[in-house]
Amino acid sequence: MTTTESDAKAEFAARLKEFEGKQIGPPELGADPVNQAMIRHWVEAIGDHNPVYVDADAAAQSVHGEIVAPPVMLQAWVMRGFKPRPRTGGSVQDELMGLLEGEGFTSVVATNCEQEYARYVHLGDHLSTTTIIESVSDEKATGLGVGHFVTTRVEYRTPEGELVGTMRFRILKFRPGTGRGAAKQDEKPPRPRPAVTQDTAFFFEGAMEHRLLIQRCVQCGLLRHPPRPACPACRSYDWDTLEASGRGTVYSFVVNHYPQIPSFDYPLPIGLIELEEGTRLVADLVGIEPGDITIGMAVEVEWQDHDPELSLPAFKPAGS
Ligand SMILES: [Zn+2]
Repeated sequence: MTTTESDAKAEFAARLKEFEGKQIGPPELGADPVNQAMIRHWVEAIGDHNPVYVDADAAAQSVHGEIVAPPVMLQAWVMRGFKPRPRTGGSVQDELMGLLEGEGFTSVVATNCEQEYARYVHLGDHLSTTTIIESVSDEKATGLGVGHFVTTRVEYRTPEGELVGTMRFRILKFRPGTGRGAAKQDEKPPRPRPAVTQDTAFFFEGAMEHRLLIQRCVQCGLLRHPPRPACPACRSYDWDTLEASGRGTVYSFVVNHYPQIPSFDYPLPIGLIELEEGTRLVADLVGIEPGDITIGMAVEVEWQDHDPELSLPAFKPAGS
C-alpha cells in the first residue's frame, strides 16, 4: 500500500468515526399503540400458545395482571413497513450509508441482533424509538468481503420517556467480490457454518466427537430438536442431553436440485429422520440413490467430517 493510499484510508476511517454516538434523527413513533390484533397475528405465526398474550382472564391471574406483548415482538411496534424513506432530508444513517457506498462498500448483510427488555409492554403502550450509531468499525477483511461493521442502538420508549427495551443491530457494509469466495473460485468452498449459539453449541461439540446428543427436558423428559432454551411442553429451562443411538427411520425427505450451492453435491437428498428415541432431526441422506429412498426405511447415522472444525451426522440405510 502506498503512503497516499494509507493516508486516504486513515482519512476515510476518521470520517466514519465521526458518526459514532450520533442520533440518526428525531424519534420515530410507532404507527399503532401495542394492540391485541397484532399480538394475535404474531403468536399465531410463531405458534406460541401462552394465554398471557391473548386471554384477558388468564392474563389477569398471571404475575402480569393483564395482557402483555411477547417481548420479542419489540421491533414490530415501531417498524416503518414498506413505506420508502423520503428522498431528501435523509437521516444521519442514510448519510453514513451514502459515504460507505461512495467508497464501493455497496453490499450489505445483517450480522447480529441483540435485544434487552427492561419491562413487558402492555396494550396501549405507544412506543417510539431513538436510534444511535453506536460504532463503525475499521476496515475488516471478512469471508464475504472487505468492509465496515456498523452497529446501531435502538431505544424503545413510552411517551413518558420510560425505556422498555433496547436493540443492538449490526450490519456489514462490504465491497462485493472481495471475499474469500472471489479469491478461490475453482475450489469447492467449505460447508456453510451452522449458527452456533449457547443453546446449540452442545450439539455441534457432540458431533465433533461423533456423539448424537439430543436436548432433554429435566422436568418432564421431553426430547426436543432443534435445541432451544425452554421446553415447549412444560416451559422449564432446565435441560440435559441424551446420547441417541443413531438409529431411526425416514419420516420424510426431499431431493434438492436447485438452488445449487457450491459446497454441496447435487442432487442432494435430505431426510427428516425419526430417531428411535422419539424426536426428529434433519440431515443429509447418504449411501443411497435418491430414487431408492422410501418413507419409513430404517437408517443409521454416518458421521461426516466436513473439515477440521465441522462434523455433522448424515444417515445411511441401516446395515449398509
Ligand atoms: Zn418439559
